[in-house]
Amino acid sequence: MKSEEYLKESARTASTQFHTEIVEPAMLEHILEQAIKTGELVDIAKKSLFYGKAIESGSDIENYKGKSSNINPDAVAPEILHAALGVYTEAAEMLEAILKAMRGEAFDEVNMFEEAGDTEWYMAMMYRALNRLPTEAREINIKKLRQRYPEKFDSGQAISRNLEAEREILEAGTD
Ligand SMILES: [Mg+2]
Repeated sequence: MKSEEYLKESARTASTQFHTEIVEPAMLEHILEQAIKTGELVDIAKKSLFYGKAIESGSDIENYKGKSSNINPDAVAPEILHAALGVYTEAAEMLEAILKAMRGEAFDEVNMFEEAGDTEWYMAMMYRALNRLPTEAREINIKKLRQRYPEKFDSGQAISRNLEAEREILEAGTD
């Protein structure tokens, strides 16, 4: 699926609602601050795991040094973890730019587009690790969303999904 077609198809299933009466400004500010803070933590993990950077002393992560854990870091290919952490950090950078603009600074569209590109770079890493193509992911994603929203975005269908039917589409792939 070509980029132009994907942008058009994805618009059909996007919400155009904006409920600031539910998520009030103070609530939104708190959520954004927390997400950005977590993004910084994830960035430390990424730089230490994949660039060999030492963990700064005084960091929250240091408290876990020497502690036991039941997780197996080798259970998933490192590139998959790297890509997922990377997408997370880029999303946090986007949220940081959004929060700055919401606090009165000029919105930097050039920077937002840069972060979008950075996200694509991490997604490219994910596709390489999964040995699949982004075009294939887009095609399956649109098929899944057609099942979820036969006409257009619907908040009822967004909240209660038929996960079994969606899984069938995901497993069938592009055939
Ligand atoms: Mg970036």
